[in-house]
Amino acid sequence: MKKYDYHVHGTYSSDSSLSYSELIGKAVTEGYTQIAFTDHFDYLPSEAIEYGIPSYVEYINSIERIQALHKESISILAGVEIGEFHRVNAYTLPMFQHRKPDLVIGSIHVLPDGFNVSVPFNETMSKKQIIDYYTENLAMVEESPINILGHLGIHKRYMTETPDETYAETIVDKILDIIIKRDIALEVNYSPFRKPYGKFLAEPSVVYRYLEKGGRLITIGSDSHSIDNFNDYYNKTIEELIDCNCHEIAVITPRGWETSPISEK
Ligand SMILES: [Zn+2]
Ligand SMILES: [Zn+2]
Repeated sequence: MKKYDYHVHGTYSSDSSLSYSELIGKAVTEGYTQIAFTDHFDYLPSEAIEYGIPSYVEYINSIERIQALHKESISILAGVEIGEFHRVNAYTLPMFQHRKPDLVIGSIHVLPDGFNVSVPFNETMSKKQIIDYYTENLAMVEESPINILGHLGIHKRYMTETPDETYAETIVDKILDIIIKRDIALEVNYSPFRKPYGKFLAEPSVVYRYLEKGGRLITIGSDSHSIDNFNDYYNKTIEELIDCNCHEIAVITPRGWETSPISEK
């Protein structure tokens, strides 16, 4: 079975310590066919002030140098993760006009009220904030030129049990319908296995629903920020995907999406 990881952060992300060459060495050893570096280029004004803005052109150029260096042993994609894409259009779209990345993950980390759902938080999220979270995802998948919807449900990562979100189900359904219509893949992000939640996100019930609706594009992302993260729960993710009745994952090619089997069935 070929192995793919479409969500890896290197040193261009302010929150990652992962060196590209170290990661590639491990990916080759672990038998990966293709990986995508997906560093953050999604600076909200507050983040730009805190972290500064790295050069997108330098980033793409450096990934291209790495691609050339390792082309005999592994395929490497120059991807990006854009948080709140629909809110950072003014910054992001000109960047893409200059050079389109191979792969774009769109994801939501910060709600319109400034609440960050992707880090540990003490307060319980209100029903309104959870609805806001999904509504933001919906606005993003409707409007943005993305290839993958990243970590849908990431606000649950530090929870210890599955919350009852039946009141948000119609919004989640709309999100799934739109990504299917727009050929946007649904990411299975396995970072929550390292956190209290212990399930991948989008979570198994959502993956199941997506497949039931006819969706066929599932990608796997480790969301690695350190070398130990890479590949740590890959096999567990595959096993649990098979339990969701998922037997192939999506692979991006110059012709668009194709699929690759993950099990014998
Ligand atoms: Zn993210
Ligand atoms: Zn990420």
